[in-house]
Amino acid sequence: PADAAMEALQHADVAELLPRPAAESDKYRRGVVGVVAGSARYPGAAVLAVAGALRGGAGAVRYVGPAADAVLARFPETLVHAGPPDKAGRVQSWVIGPGIGDESEALDDVLASDVPVLVDADGLRFLTPQRVRARHAETLLTPHAGEAAALLGSGRAEVEAARLATVGELARRFGATVLLKGSTTLVAAADGPVRVNPTGTSWLATAGSGDVLSGVTGSLLAAGLPARDAGSVGAYLHGLAARRAAGPAGAPILASEVAAHLDAAWRDVT
Ligand code: AMP
Ligand code: MG
Repeated sequence: PADAAMEALQHADVAELLPRPAAESDKYRRGVVGVVAGSARYPGAAVLAVAGALRGGAGAVRYVGPAADAVLARFPETLVHAGPPDKAGRVQSWVIGPGIGDESEALDDVLASDVPVLVDADGLRFLTPQRVRARHAETLLTPHAGEAAALLGSGRAEVEAARLATVGELARRFGATVLLKGSTTLVAAADGPVRVNPTGTSWLATAGSGDVLSGVTGSLLAAGLPARDAGSVGAYLHGLAARRAAGPAGAPILASEVAAHLDAAWRDVT
């Protein structure tokens, strides 16, 4: 509806929300994020989601899935696990979906966990409101317009024509927090104001950039941010990182470069 309250975070708001390690912190206290992503067909999605997660503020990243070799080749910092997510050891949040294709078995485990879960991309195809509503911890859905349309059984054009109404409708229907990606990224919880991300850039319209967003946002969940804040801070840093990567005049950027500029974005805010 046109009268829905909206707000936009600014640098100072984000600076206050960013998780910083306390003097006595260790990696576990900073939070561990579990990433279920990638497949034989799409190993790169796993690498990009992990890249985002490693720079999102959690103390460690566990990767669960078939692309462990590709992930380790790029990021030896990652803890990799064979087998199902519930055997991977304790995590404080899960990210599931980028590039998993039809491999939906892990979703049952992850949804059954008692930690916050971010569901993106292919993971969204197997969700129902019942499955999300049955959870005991927060759930954050991060669809683009096409994925949002599939969740609602509507069309992409209808979503694009009514993005504000759509994000609210999804949040209410699934009893979840929803981050609707696109030219203007919106974050809505079941109630309260919708957050509009002010840092986006259309240079982000490139393959894999959504996978990086999933990782960084899931990492913020693991560090203890509530889903609304994790989603809006994640989108904020992701947009700033893309601007940093693209430079003042703008230039084509790679999703992996967005991940590599997350630290610069972090410093810009603080
Ligand atoms: P995905 O569709 O999952 O690859 O995610 C794409 C990422 O790029 C999301 O963070 C979008 O919000 C962002 N994005 C895509 N197109 C645009 C655009 N035209 N302007 C700003 N951000 C965009
Ligand atoms: Mg995507």
